[in-house]
Amino acid sequence: NTNERNTYKIAVIAGDGIGQETVPEGLKVLSAAARLFDIGLDFEEHDFASCDYYARHGEMMPGDWKSRIIDSDAIFFGAVGWPDTVPDHVSLWGSLLKFRREFDQYANLRPVRLMPGVPCPLAGKSPGDIDFWVVRENTEGEYSSIGGKIFEGTDRETVMQETVMTRQGVDRILRYAFEIAERTERKTLTSATKSNGISITMPYWDERVLEMAKSFPDIAVDKYHIDILTALFVLKPERFNVVVASNLFGDILSDLGPACTGTIGIAPSGNINPTRTFPSLFEPVHGSAPDIAGQGIANPVGQIWCGAMMLDHLGHPEAASAVVAAIESVLSDPERRTSDLGGEADTRGCGDAVLEALEKHVSQN
Ligand code: ATP
Ligand code: MG
Repeated sequence: NTNERNTYKIAVIAGDGIGQETVPEGLKVLSAAARLFDIGLDFEEHDFASCDYYARHGEMMPGDWKSRIIDSDAIFFGAVGWPDTVPDHVSLWGSLLKFRREFDQYANLRPVRLMPGVPCPLAGKSPGDIDFWVVRENTEGEYSSIGGKIFEGTDRETVMQETVMTRQGVDRILRYAFEIAERTERKTLTSATKSNGISITMPYWDERVLEMAKSFPDIAVDKYHIDILTALFVLKPERFNVVVASNLFGDILSDLGPACTGTIGIAPSGNINPTRTFPSLFEPVHGSAPDIAGQGIANPVGQIWCGAMMLDHLGHPEAASAVVAAIESVLSDPERRTSDLGGEADTRGCGDAVLEALEKHVSQN
């Protein structure tokens, strides 16, 4: 989709609740980054994938939603969900999960990075100590719907659910994780497994890791069983660089990681189609936060950080790093961060501060 002049089409979906407040701050910073780094970003805003749209149309998205955004280079997403009007499973299945499936966003990517100004639940850590990525397989594995219940209602009642791993599905997530590791300085990758207890699928996963490692000779690979791995996230997070995991293990690790750095409220995530056949989607980890929506006090950092991830994905890592540096500068200052982090700024003030910090960072580097 990308043309030679580095111009990208971005589908913007603010969605529900605080998404309406954080997305404009994200766009503000993205526009500045585009100007400073000479990147063309064409934003195309959509009102669907929101409960507001549902109230007007009786569905979360129009029938032709796919053709309306499929030629975008990325989707910049706010939040979806307004449980007072639409049950969460309806809003989620009617929007985000459709994107994930139809656009084959088979990798979920989350940074785990200790930021200044964010209280770290782990003792004795400083910014710089914890900085790694969690890559989660997003389409198969433990979350299959194959299984069922037999002898229902009897004392032999039994339920089963299968884990499905395909060579294609495993290899493609591993390749993506190795490629991320290759772009990092430390060149290490950790694989989550449980082959001592899960005796068919997990040994297969391990086998594919070893096979994939042959194509990436400069990457040092290790593996840990998921139980000790979760302990190490808490005890020795410094040692990680890129962690790759199956759907279930990755689900757990991608929440645990940001929680270990206290950043769950400001963490971004990417639902990535690494082959770039379809657009990838970038959204903050937090939801629509109905309890604070409409007050202009939401923390916009998660959304802005999503913008950094998106720039990186589009092939502009220098612009992405500059945005992250600007976020770090703002978070370190109570006057510029929002009240959820004990600061004094409102949503717009915090967004303005990131924009200013970005301009300053670029002019000094
Ligand atoms: P999800 O919709 O992803 O399942 P949720 O509905 O359980 O998540 P959130 O919407 O993320 O939860 O809100 C959880 C709590 O965190 C709420 O009290 C909310 O106000 C707060 N919160 C979430 N995001 C932000 C933010 N950007 N700034 C400040 N507070 C936030
Ligand atoms: Mg919610």
